Amino acid sequence: MENQIDTQMEQRKGRRLVLFPLPFQGHINPMLLLATILHSKGFSITIIHTNFNSPNPSNFPNFTFHSIPDGFSESEASSKDVVFLAKLLNTKCVEPFRDCMVKLLSDVSEEPISCLISDAFFYFSQAVADSLKLPRVVLRTGGLSSFVVFVAFPLLRERGYLPIQDSQLEEPVAELPPLKVKDLPVIDNVDPDSYYEIIAGMVNESKASSGIIWNSFEELEQSELDTLRQEFPNPIFPIGPFHKYHLTSSSSSLLAQDQSSISWLDKQAPKSVIYASFGSLAALSEAQFLEIAWGLANSNQPFLWVVRPGLVRGSEWLEPLPSGFLETLNGRAHIIKWAPQLEVLAHPAVGAFWTHNGWNSTLESICEGVPMICMPCFTDQKVNAKYVSQVWKVGLQLENGSDRLMIERCIRRLMVEKEGEEIRDRISKLKDKAKFCLQQGGSSLQNLDSLVSHISKLES
Ligand code: UDP
Repeated sequence: MENQIDTQMEQRKGRRLVLFPLPFQGHINPMLLLATILHSKGFSITIIHTNFNSPNPSNFPNFTFHSIPDGFSESEASSKDVVFLAKLLNTKCVEPFRDCMVKLLSDVSEEPISCLISDAFFYFSQAVADSLKLPRVVLRTGGLSSFVVFVAFPLLRERGYLPIQDSQLEEPVAELPPLKVKDLPVIDNVDPDSYYEIIAGMVNESKASSGIIWNSFEELEQSELDTLRQEFPNPIFPIGPFHKYHLTSSSSSLLAQDQSSISWLDKQAPKSVIYASFGSLAALSEAQFLEIAWGLANSNQPFLWVVRPGLVRGSEWLEPLPSGFLETLNGRAHIIKWAPQLEVLAHPAVGAFWTHNGWNSTLESICEGVPMICMPCFTDQKVNAKYVSQVWKVGLQLENGSDRLMIERCIRRLMVEKEGEEIRDRISKLKDKAKFCLQQGGSSLQNLDSLVSHISKLES
């Protein structure tokens, strides 16, 4: 058996994978973790990345990095409109990406390339891969549950659920229980046609690919996996949670992670702290920000709060806070610009995670058994929040526009009341499932073996 494994590893040596992450934090992290996992299976790794939001190659000495110009102007690069940026990336990267691939494929001094693995939102890369007769495997960095909803977009439009009408927000989506219209993964204030276009590109070109990898695990999203396996002709590999493989991986954080959060947490009582962070893209109005600040302050719980520069629209950082806000809390609060989130969630002092429910944050919270307060902003976050609160029942969802009293009440329910205890119980069971799937014979490890053998058989 061992000899057989050695031979398989031997065969893979000399096979190269080219990975192409979408340049946003929630997409770069899982792609580089996937690279580390596949490297441990004997593949050589080449990363193609844009200049915009470039990862730091020196953190990954085992990988080869190639940078391509994205052609963004200064004003484009500072845009906060993710739909605009995604569309732009799928237009401006075509030529530079193609040129880079042609160079890599024609370099005979390098190992042969087995396939391209690109982010599902780099949907243009399917046509490039086809034209170069190179198989393309997709990494979808979100959950399966939200993907099922994206697949249903044409139907949802046909049946009048989309575009969303304010008068229908509380109506159930009969085709996708338990979702209500308000949970559909849309973005406010963007051009809906552009949004539908990138979602269709993401779904259709994933379907056309040679396989889809998911940072999720079967036990978490079994029925959505069954649905997709029926609807999609290509193989699907849920091999997550990526960050829980026992591999040494470097940080792919674009912002410096403030380690003072850990020394501050060290001084707090077990399970007492609310960790609040809304990821790398979400933005809040000043009024919303102040309700959050007062809700946290009035909860009487200690809190660690990530206020990313730019989180509050129209402000640099903490200017909207009333003067002396932090001082009156006598050390009960610690505000930072960016956290070492994995370490924070694994810290024994953390009792709850107030999150925007980006998929990575959601999965990271589940893996540490930390119950969530859900405050989704846009797209798949809305579906993730619904699953956390209503399907897995491991968190409470704050309604849109909640004021400080509603926030305080929600924190009490989770941190102090019996309801919170039941939620903690459930998430601790889910944490165990996340652990088992990466143990010998576990579902994700089995799916990883299938993925590796699938890739090894792909012919370019
Ligand atoms: N993250 C971090 N420090 C922070 C906040 C977030 O390192 O202060 C990481 C987090 O661990 C996750 C990623 O950034 O891996 C955010 O991805 P997610 O899908 O949760 O949200 P997005 O930023 O894409 O909205």
